[in-house]
Amino acid sequence: MTFHSMWAELLPVGRSSASGGYRRFAWTGADLDCRAWFRQQAEARGLTYEADRNGNQWAWLGDPARGDAVVTGSHLDSVPDGGAFDGPLGVVSSFAALDELRGRGAELTRPLGIVNFGDEEGARFGLACVGSRLTAGQLTVEDAHRLTDGDGTTLPRAMEAAGYDPDAIGPDPERLARIGAFVELHVEQGRALDLSGDRVGIASAIWPHGRWRFDFRGEANHAGTTRLADRRDPMLSYAETVLAARREAELAGAVATFGKIAVEPNGVNAIPSLVRGWLDSRAPEQHTLDTVIGGIEKAARAYAQEHGVDLAVVRESFTPVVEFDHALRDELARILGTDADLKVPVLGTGAGHDAGILSGSIPTAMLFVRNPTGVSHSPAESATEDDCVAGVLALADVLEGLACT
Ligand SMILES: [Zn+2]
Repeated sequence: MTFHSMWAELLPVGRSSASGGYRRFAWTGADLDCRAWFRQQAEARGLTYEADRNGNQWAWLGDPARGDAVVTGSHLDSVPDGGAFDGPLGVVSSFAALDELRGRGAELTRPLGIVNFGDEEGARFGLACVGSRLTAGQLTVEDAHRLTDGDGTTLPRAMEAAGYDPDAIGPDPERLARIGAFVELHVEQGRALDLSGDRVGIASAIWPHGRWRFDFRGEANHAGTTRLADRRDPMLSYAETVLAARREAELAGAVATFGKIAVEPNGVNAIPSLVRGWLDSRAPEQHTLDTVIGGIEKAARAYAQEHGVDLAVVRESFTPVVEFDHALRDELARILGTDADLKVPVLGTGAGHDAGILSGSIPTAMLFVRNPTGVSHSPAESATEDDCVAGVLALADVLEGLACT
């Protein structure tokens, strides 16, 4: 099966020899290598290749201008030291599923597209799903132009360096209007399928999720000469807030994580003047998430006051609950339900995806492939070859059911 050779080609791109994880950040050399690979796969199959204004790549079989196209795909970029499967599994499986369809001699009745969405993880510029958000009009051109990476390079400069025109970005409703269904295959980012003993699942919904920045401002001073009683140490209130986040999430059946922190002046022998912590939180329902965030913020304000520290909380991004298109979901269940070897449970997820962004504009669905470790955004993320092949065949069945009948 072509899956293996494609997978092997992509495997070394952007891999850190130190961590074994991937560093395929938007518009860096590793990302451009992945994009070159995508184009090469498209052209090798005689597909019509195009890069859109927002940095997404498309490969078409049939003319998308006919409308009602069926599109599949995912992303090729990664988080810092990410695993091999998050994103690439969906793109590689898409090409492999197309090969499978051709092998079956299936005749298309609708245009079929494969897409690689740009900058899905947001690892470089801090906002996830930039390519699909821009296309769907969920990110303004002004806000996109202001995105800046850790080295001070703006998104426009990064796009320009890669040969793109940053002034051309923006909503692309004509493109979306041509798509009748989008199906994203993705490695599962949890253990639901492992626990249920199934290879492949169908997504029901994406939990509402967001990112909040907590700025605790105190007073820098000497770590050796400042009496404990005289300190205004923001690290203390930050540390207590981290514990409060865990507590609130546990109580509510949600998740909350402080995974990134910036400290000023960041010296071993200095009491910090500023501790900036980023909170990521997700919950099955909106009201649960509101309760969790409200509880964490209330606790943080109390801790800040206790230590004479100022606190500012800024919501940096937010994605409401995404219910995938029920009709399309039922259609997938019907198509896959005819395969006696495959049980396909329907499951929710706490992870965001381009499919979630697009669900506001077009019917979307997702397939998950079992990940025995349940780990994601880490080199420990995994999927067996047999399960990857089962994913490809399920995707081929879905594409055949949607685009060939
Ligand atoms: Zn992903």
